Amino acid sequence: MPLSGSPVAQKDFILAPGSALRHRTRNRLVKIQLLPSTLDVKGQTSPEQRLTCYVIDDRVAVDAGSIAISLTNEQRETVRDIIVTHPHMDHIASLPIFIDDLFGELTEPIRIYATQEVIDALENDIFNWTIYPRFSELRNEKSPVMEYVPFRVGEEFRVAHLHVTAVNVNHIVPTVGLLVTDNETTIAFSSDTAETEEFWQLVNRTPHIDALLIEASFPDSMAKLAEVSRHFTPASLKKELRKMKKHKDVDILTVHIKPTYREQVVAELNALKIPKLSVMEPGRTYDW
Ligand SMILES: [Zn+2]
Ligand SMILES: [Zn+2]
Repeated sequence: MPLSGSPVAQKDFILAPGSALRHRTRNRLVKIQLLPSTLDVKGQTSPEQRLTCYVIDDRVAVDAGSIAISLTNEQRETVRDIIVTHPHMDHIASLPIFIDDLFGELTEPIRIYATQEVIDALENDIFNWTIYPRFSELRNEKSPVMEYVPFRVGEEFRVAHLHVTAVNVNHIVPTVGLLVTDNETTIAFSSDTAETEEFWQLVNRTPHIDALLIEASFPDSMAKLAEVSRHFTPASLKKELRKMKKHKDVDILTVHIKPTYREQVVAELNALKIPKLSVMEPGRTYDW
């Protein structure tokens, strides 16, 4: 999990069982950022995560909480595909603003990939002409500005250069976890969830996973609230990770820590002493 350098033709050396070094060449790496939600007084990225938006290879977003706030100008030109895992506000907060910002200059629509249930929620509750315009019915001089691409859970679909499989996870609204691959690098995203099954079945039947991004929202002292709002605490996450039967060498990045309890949750996560588990830093570029 090195910091991003030049992601072209990176070479990995893997120790094959009982033999010399096996040499694997990757043509490219997959690059992921958790976008910052807030800046400190000096304009530097704050470590707290208030909103959820990941950007993959400057091109595809997973959720859109901070998408209008924290993309670079270059990324604003290249991110046109957004997968929405569920319609909670921390995952879609600035999605309408992002499309509004780009309205006049789009030469292709912003594509929103989601289950039909999530699309219905966005249409009824956000893009409903009251909260914001229904962009799916609007176009500029060159192109429609927004298009829904519904997907079904359990069926692989294509998003730009990536293959994605979504499965239901256990949250208080319909929510999907994701497996995202470019056929060399594979990343699993839990999204918001409490103890769940299909996600681990998907992970366990995947031959190789490079990284798991999984939530740990509340401290152990708030286990009751975590249970009713369907989130993990460090203790329940530890138990849950036992369901991952393979991938002992996977990088585990914890995300979605509630900002108010961040210090406590981070201390409890560190105390678990799970190898290769760390807290994902907003603004940092990770690649595999
Ligand atoms: Zn949620
Ligand atoms: Zn959330």
